[in-house]
Amino acid sequence: MTAVAKAFRWARIQAVRHMAECERARLRWSETTITEIVTAHTSRAVTVVPFTQRAEALSGADWVWWWVDSAGAYGMLVQAKRVTVTSSAWNFDFGYTATGAARSQREVLRSAAAMLGLLPVYALYLGTGDYRRWEHCADIHRRWRCIQCIKRTVSLMPALLADERNVCDAASTYERSVALEDLWTGCPASAPLRPALRNQLAPELSDFLQNRQDGTRAVTRSMIDSVLKSRFGQFAAVSTSVAGVHNGEHDRLGSVFGDVPDDTGHWGLRYFEHTLNPLLHTPPHYVLEIMTGDFDEDRLALDMPENIAGIVVVRVPQDE
Ligand SMILES: [Zn+2]
Repeated sequence: MTAVAKAFRWARIQAVRHMAECERARLRWSETTITEIVTAHTSRAVTVVPFTQRAEALSGADWVWWWVDSAGAYGMLVQAKRVTVTSSAWNFDFGYTATGAARSQREVLRSAAAMLGLLPVYALYLGTGDYRRWEHCADIHRRWRCIQCIKRTVSLMPALLADERNVCDAASTYERSVALEDLWTGCPASAPLRPALRNQLAPELSDFLQNRQDGTRAVTRSMIDSVLKSRFGQFAAVSTSVAGVHNGEHDRLGSVFGDVPDDTGHWGLRYFEHTLNPLLHTPPHYVLEIMTGDFDEDRLALDMPENIAGIVVVRVPQDE
């Protein structure tokens, strides 16, 4: 196991321990605490730059995550959401609006992600297996302390897929998300593609979606695969045009895939572009600065929207 994989595993173990202690004491663990635990423990193997001046003033703050390797970089803006399990449903309250706030947390996440060219993502904190009553995970579920279920304690879901009506129980949550520690190892060779979409793919994108990937590209596949799986189940017909390059945007931003299908599904949003644009050939300047240790935290913070608590840069392990 690589140092990065070990750090993510250890972070999850610590998060589960804290949740279990809170559950035992009938305390409600908070998103902020779990974010602290995950960030602190992964920082053994990844670079964490907290905006210390801001952290105290903000609750529900979002983190920028960049996944980087020799082939490229993929950027996300991550907002934490804990599940509340009741006898009838799982609830995440994605549309939460703090008292006195002008916008919901969801709107803040989406607009900041769009501004920074990042994929908006939820880090779902699902509590211990006991808390979730060991409802069967989507993988091969083991009867006794299923490791796949335990890994799901910290899962990532593209924000596009997070609506309360459809994410309301174990099955719908597991289907649309992936365990954080499986992000770059879990994806199969071929993405779930409708035939009408498969015919529209440019060769490079076709190769990306139908062959096994590693490193940063595997992270990207985890996200687009979740979106495509959800698209697979929708009734809306596939639109047949290919978006191509919009206003030269792709060239300017250095996105890896220029020609992507225009399909919008029932989201009314070009989801290929939305999910794949944050995959770049090289990381943006501020990420390169962080990687070389040559940066000014206060200046970095000034360039970011107010809801952002800091930046995490992960060098994703690649196959040998
Ligand atoms: Zn399981």
